[in-house]
Amino acid sequence: MRFDIMTLFPEMVMNGLNTSIIGRAIEKGILEIEAWNIRDFAFNKHNSVDDYPYGGGAGMLMQAEPVYQTYKAICEKTGKEEGKRPRVVYLSPQGKTFNQSMAEEFAKEEELILLCGHYEGIDERVLEEIVTDYVSAGDYVLTGGELPAMIMIDAISRLIPGVLHNNASAEFETFQDSLLEYPHYSRPEIWHDKQVPPILLSGHHANVEKWRREQSVIRTAKWRPDLLEKAELTEKEQILAKEILKEKEEKALHNTTNCDNI
Ligand code: SAM
Repeated sequence: MRFDIMTLFPEMVMNGLNTSIIGRAIEKGILEIEAWNIRDFAFNKHNSVDDYPYGGGAGMLMQAEPVYQTYKAICEKTGKEEGKRPRVVYLSPQGKTFNQSMAEEFAKEEELILLCGHYEGIDERVLEEIVTDYVSAGDYVLTGGELPAMIMIDAISRLIPGVLHNNASAEFETFQDSLLEYPHYSRPEIWHDKQVPPILLSGHHANVEKWRREQSVIRTAKWRPDLLEKAELTEKEQILAKEILKEKEEKALHNTTNCDNI
């Protein structure tokens, strides 16, 4: 898969992505990642790419033309045919919040262009012309789209066959079946007086799987009960989840009562 990133800080993105698992996948040629400096497409002698917003207001805005010229250069390099538009994601707090199923959907593409804004954002007209998807990293405002672009690339890339050593580790994990993943343990068997759950040492594969599934349900009910709405639970698991939720409510009530007594 190929990623082209349009940014004012190409070194920030490439330094972050050239390491560890993603870096190795680039070396192996499974991933191609190129960061394009929008400033290289500035059209004035000061190489500036921002200007004051019409109508006033605080901050500067990235101008349309350098962004558009960067986009055209990417299309020329990647040889997109006339009429076949590449998917262009604008990282924006106003977009749809990124999640695992979006990562799965984007992983089906051969190429993705990611556009990172800065300052107050980008002139709306070029967004209208080139952007196909608006994606947010979450409900908070960052200084630029580079970190969200890196998050997206990381989450999408690990779903591409060959990027992870063990492809199974991308299959059975958090958000699969709308559940959080079960807890993990490694050596030693006892650490700080804490014992690894004995079932994991039993060698009984079916019982281990049963325990893990149960732990997933418990953990999801405790930490992300909102996910349970979409999870397909057996009758027994539903009862277990309800018990955890009830315990949580009682604990919360108990804490409030305690505070009231202070
Ligand atoms: N004025 C914009 C607004 O209120 O919607 C925010 C601009 S922000 C300071 C500058 C750039 O950071 C944006 O153009 C966007 O590319 C990026 N950015 C900020 N927060 C983001 C988020 N939560 N998700 C994705 N990108 C974000």
